[in-house]
Amino acid sequence: MLFEVKAIDHEFYDDHLASFLPEKMVDVHTHVWLKSFLRDDDEHNRGAKWPSRVAEDNSIEDLLETYRLMFPRQRVTPLVFGYPASNVILDQTNDYVTRVAAEHRLPSLILNDPSWSAEELERRVRAGGFLGLKPYLCFAPSHLGPNDITIFDFLPRHQLEVANDHGWIVVLHVPRNARLKDPVNLDQMLEIERRYPEVRMVYAHVGRAYCAEDVGNAFEVLGDTEHMRFDFCANTNAQVIEQVIRVMGPKRVLFGSDLPILRMRMRRICENGMYINLVPPGLYGDISDDPHMREVSPEEGARLSFFMYEELLAFRTAAEALGLSIKDVEDICYNNAVALFAEQGWTL
Ligand SMILES: [Zn+2]
Repeated sequence: MLFEVKAIDHEFYDDHLASFLPEKMVDVHTHVWLKSFLRDDDEHNRGAKWPSRVAEDNSIEDLLETYRLMFPRQRVTPLVFGYPASNVILDQTNDYVTRVAAEHRLPSLILNDPSWSAEELERRVRAGGFLGLKPYLCFAPSHLGPNDITIFDFLPRHQLEVANDHGWIVVLHVPRNARLKDPVNLDQMLEIERRYPEVRMVYAHVGRAYCAEDVGNAFEVLGDTEHMRFDFCANTNAQVIEQVIRVMGPKRVLFGSDLPILRMRMRRICENGMYINLVPPGLYGDISDDPHMREVSPEEGARLSFFMYEELLAFRTAAEALGLSIKDVEDICYNNAVALFAEQGWTL
């Protein structure tokens, strides 16, 4: 079996999720790749360290098996894209996505290199059958430090123009240590909203606001926008998910997971504004160098279920606090994504 599903997981699913989730779902945020696409050198890794401990790769078969194991009562269609890492061979991870998306009839996005010209980007998106872009900060020029990177360093304006012409979907992970509340991020998000209104921007992870302290005044600044959307993938903070749905409305928030990392067994807490994944001892190797990871006792570890379930329970908590209707939940989990794909001429 790909991973173990324990009694505690069945219980979690039955108690909190089985009847809350709609039967049909779309997951707008998933990565598929094979480890053969990765070069050995990883010195330029600018993302969090712990994700590679959960899965070294995620074939399309593993992704689809994950849904079967985790959601016995749902049918989940993923939006797939490659693995954004500085040591990935970009053509291989994108070509794999093109191939498996065609074989399994799935929607997909391309990992874009910001150095591509507008023409090259357009040609690659068309040839690969992609519905848009998955930019990532590790493809920004390598001299930029993590807090110098801005959105336009890995999603340059000339590429946004092409995306705007075609109305492409763009799933974006905001950069910078201050996350969603960062004033440079907020300025650029507003600029994209104003200058490229046809781009279907989806800001991933609620702009990486995993703790209350990451929000700042973002939702006041973004409150008057009309276009931008958010997914809450890899976010287990019910208050943050509640805020984003309240401000954006249930039509502009989408379910996403960020599989395969959502297979992780964990529970997340915030301490002094920093997120910490609590995990069973020993399960993810030596994590002593990672401030975002902490082992709990064996007894507590035995009670931990999947990151995926923790995220969806947080969404349920937010939905109940807001009094969302069944239709609202279906929109967030399915209809909003289906409508986005349909605008690209792709029907489920
Ligand atoms: Zn991701």
